[in-house]
Amino acid sequence: MSKVLVFCESANGSIKSSSLELITAAKNSGLETVTCLLGSDAPTLAASSGNYGATSSVVCSDASLDAYNSDAYFNALEAIIEKVAPTIVLASGSAPARDVFPKLAAKFDSGVAADCTSIEFNGDNVKLSKPLYSGKCIADLDFQNSKIQFVLMRPNQLPVGEADASATASVEEVALPAKDLRVLIKEIVQGASKRVDLTEANIIVSGGRGLKEASNFKLLEDLADVIGASVGASRAVVDAGWVDHSMQVGQTGKTVAPSLYIACGISGAIQHLAGMSSSKVIVAINTDKEAPIFQKATYGIVGDALEVLPVLTEEFKKIL
Ligand SMILES: Cc1cc2nc3c(=O)[nH]c(=O)nc-3n(C[C@H](O)[C@H](O)[C@H](O)COP(=O)(O)OP(=O)(O)OC[C@H]3O[C@@H](n4cnc5c(N)ncnc54)[C@H](O)[C@@H]3O)c2cc1C
Repeated sequence: MSKVLVFCESANGSIKSSSLELITAAKNSGLETVTCLLGSDAPTLAASSGNYGATSSVVCSDASLDAYNSDAYFNALEAIIEKVAPTIVLASGSAPARDVFPKLAAKFDSGVAADCTSIEFNGDNVKLSKPLYSGKCIADLDFQNSKIQFVLMRPNQLPVGEADASATASVEEVALPAKDLRVLIKEIVQGASKRVDLTEANIIVSGGRGLKEASNFKLLEDLADVIGASVGASRAVVDAGWVDHSMQVGQTGKTVAPSLYIACGISGAIQHLAGMSSSKVIVAINTDKEAPIFQKATYGIVGDALEVLPVLTEEFKKIL
């Protein structure tokens, strides 16, 4: 039977939800689902990938893979792909995956489809779609003459199946090939935010120029604390130096697809919409009832975000 290899990433001792989405999709395809994980916690996590439908897992638990290194990841994944011989390789479109998978695809004389928002399995082949031109049109993709179909999915696009704690995957180890690394990671500096990365977040509260000044982002932080959200921003306020670029959502920032996106004082420029319009529910708070964001919003509040946000925070505190 053809195999789907799912590259799983982890955070805080668990497989990321974006990877669980892919294991679920692979399992539902009816093809054999094999996961792969890298780093010292890989063997433990690999077994648990069976809870979501993987039958086996191949890991490389070399501690040098605990932090992302382009060359080392390439070497490990190349060895794993050679061992598993999959027809399809799925990964979430994280920064490491977007770096390493195009190189792997080239190595295996194959193509890579990135930033996909839907996937359908048709026998051994996949049919995909992805937004183009800031979401103005959707491209349908499939692979031609590609030995392996490498697919990078946008996070939060697919459902995660129910975990079956009694099902575990068999785990096999591969050694990290001893090849020279051209890049060494000397230090990793953790970003200031302790919140879930925007691309993985289930709820995002985002602020724009309508918040008037940087200190008013505190209102977003307060709401985010109560509802368990991450905090995003428009480019206008990033350019103004109010918040870090890592918080920018949009064409030149992050692409997000949370279950709930609350846009506060954001006009809804096409470049902002490009990064968040596939959110499942969009709530917009804006003083201007003609603001373009309302055309995309599921729910709209015409009002002053500086007044509405504290009320929302207090009301959520009562029920959560
Ligand atoms: C090549 C290119 C790439 C870009 N990439 C991005 C990107 O990645 N992300 C991005 O966001 N932008 C991007 N932009 C910029 C984009 O075009 C807009 O300029 C930007 O999104 C506007 O940010 P904003 O909505 O915060 O500000 P504004 O457009 O100024 O909107 C502020 C909104 O706040 C409302 N408002 C005012 N006061 C209040 C209040 N008290 N309460 C509630 N609402 C209030 C106003 O009615 C208005 O709708 C890009 C532009 C270009 C040219």
